Amino acid sequence: MTVTSLTLEPRPIDPSVDHGIQAIVAGASSAETCNTDLAAGPWDFDIRAGYGPGASMGDVIPTGAPRQGGLPQEYRDASEDELHARIAAAKAALGERVVILGHFYQREEVVRHADYVGDSFQLAGFAKQHPEAEAIVFCGVHFMAETADLLSQPEQAVILPNLAAGCSMADMADIDEVEDCWEQLAEIYGDMEAVDEEGLVPVVPVTYMNSSAAIKGFVGRHGGIVCTSSNARTVLEWAYARGRRVLFFPDQHLGRNTAKAMGVPLEQMPMWNPHKPLGGSSQVELEDAKVILWHGFCSVHRRFTVDQIDKARAEHPGVRVIVHPECPMAVVDAADEAGSTDYIRKAIAAADEPTTFAVGTEINLVQRLAAQYPQHEIFCLDPVVCPCSTMYRIHPGYLAWVLEELVAGSVVNRVTVPADVADPARVALERMLAARP
Ligand code: SF4
Repeated sequence: MTVTSLTLEPRPIDPSVDHGIQAIVAGASSAETCNTDLAAGPWDFDIRAGYGPGASMGDVIPTGAPRQGGLPQEYRDASEDELHARIAAAKAALGERVVILGHFYQREEVVRHADYVGDSFQLAGFAKQHPEAEAIVFCGVHFMAETADLLSQPEQAVILPNLAAGCSMADMADIDEVEDCWEQLAEIYGDMEAVDEEGLVPVVPVTYMNSSAAIKGFVGRHGGIVCTSSNARTVLEWAYARGRRVLFFPDQHLGRNTAKAMGVPLEQMPMWNPHKPLGGSSQVELEDAKVILWHGFCSVHRRFTVDQIDKARAEHPGVRVIVHPECPMAVVDAADEAGSTDYIRKAIAAADEPTTFAVGTEINLVQRLAAQYPQHEIFCLDPVVCPCSTMYRIHPGYLAWVLEELVAGSVVNRVTVPADVADPARVALERMLAARP
């Protein structure tokens, strides 16, 4: 008998995190997930208060957080293939009347229908490029839909397919708590608009893009500015040219990592916990502060640890570790590089030689990059499959529903920002666009 050797083609990597979770729950995969409820449809969780399964499930949801009304049964019962076909048909029927935006962290079954995929600010920019579209369907989370509404035409409807898709980090900076913080700081620093002998005000408020429109409006009203994870350093430099110190919210980690890289000592970065008098710091600490960090964080990026990096280095000699600056400082310090989602994507795309990448950001993006660049080995630093709870809420069933409603002439789940908030919020965004390194 002649034995011929078989050359096995490497199996393509499935970019779907959802397929991986279904396999775990069915016992067909030895991987681990943080919650087997992730295998269910998000409509099972929409009726309950909470962020649902996934990385934010332990976070406290604000009482007034938007909830999603029912999703018609036909969408809950439809198979993945049926939803795919219905979304494609509705999109074709709508043509240029609709633009679908998909965030990097969105599930593959939704992203495959997106006209544009990117981070929150890139997507808002894409929305702006399509004034002809009647509707912008934003497959991301609530603050992103608000930002798209701020930057799009007034007559355009920005639609969030599931209104329960908030962001636990954005929710950690509540406008009433921020106003209260400002009042307490004014008692220490005096007139917040008065400039000193060097022409600097006492505090410049800076908010990360991942915040509500109300917070962006607050910042705009108080001489402040918005930043992204790509331009945080440039924005802090802008702020220090105008103020003695910065009040940075909601993400303490992005604030700390950026200020530290600029040489600000950790002792001059007190934290502001809104549930404690003076945020939990002393008057002396606040007087000496260069950046006051709001007590917020992203539960996806807080899962990454130095131990995971050590393990990756031990098991994959030569591995390149890239993490997002929303990760804790120790993780950023232990990584080879830190940068925004766009930075991570471009770094991998630019690698000429086959490389092993360990990535510290949301798993849907990592899995998609692994499928897109099979010449590299790309894996998520966190071995537990635990996607962003809130991005997870945008299931293809909701996308099919909002699109078919549009075909039928009905706009559902529109997100609008009232004018008294929108005007100063736009000012804060425009300052960011004008800020130069
Ligand atoms: S990954 Fe973190 S910051 Fe981004 S939407 Fe999810 S909870 Fe919010």
